[in-house]
Amino acid sequence: MSILATLTERSNHQCELCQSTEQLDIYKVPPEETDADKCILACQTCRDQLTGVVETDVNHWRCLSDAMWSVVPAVQVTAYRQLHQLSGEAWAQDNLDMLYLEEDVKAWAEAGLTDNEDRVPTLDANGTELKAGDNVTIIKDLQVKGAGFTAKRGTAVRNISLTDNPEHIEGRVNGTRIVLVSAYLKKM
Ligand SMILES: [Zn+2]
Repeated sequence: MSILATLTERSNHQCELCQSTEQLDIYKVPPEETDADKCILACQTCRDQLTGVVETDVNHWRCLSDAMWSVVPAVQVTAYRQLHQLSGEAWAQDNLDMLYLEEDVKAWAEAGLTDNEDRVPTLDANGTELKAGDNVTIIKDLQVKGAGFTAKRGTAVRNISLTDNPEHIEGRVNGTRIVLVSAYLKKM
C-alpha cells in the first residue's frame, strides 16, 4: 500500500490536524522520512503553514487542542512543535503543559524545534553576546518610561533575562523590573 493510501485509511480521509477533507496530501514530519509512521495526512492550509509558505494563522491552530490527543506519534510531534511556536498564546501554552509524550516521541519532537538555534543574539554596546543571568552596567542615563525615574549611567543590573526581542533585555533597576535596550549596556 502506498504511503498516501495508508495515511488516508489511518486518518479516515481527514486532515489529521484540523479534520478538513480538502486538498489532503502527505506532510513529512522533519527530519523527513519516507515511511508512513513519520508522515501525516494534512490539508493544504495546514501544510502551507507548517512549511512556512504562508504566515501562521494563530486561530487555525486551535484545532491542535484536539489533534494533540491523537494516538499517532507523528501527529503528536507536529502538534507539540506547532504549539511551541505559538506558546506566546495562553491557550497554546496551556495545551503544551497538558500534552504528555513518550520519551522517544518527545526526543523526536524536540529535535525539530529550531527556535533556539535561529535566535538572533542579543548584543551589548561592544557587540558582546548577552545571556540570561549576565550582569551588565548601563552606559548612558536612560529615562525609564512609565516608571518615573532615570536609570543612571554606571548602574549595575544583575542577573538579566532575555526577551523575545533580541534588542531588549529585562533587569531590575531601583527595585523595579524594567526593559532595557541592550545597545546601552555593557557586560560586566
Ligand atoms: Zn488541516
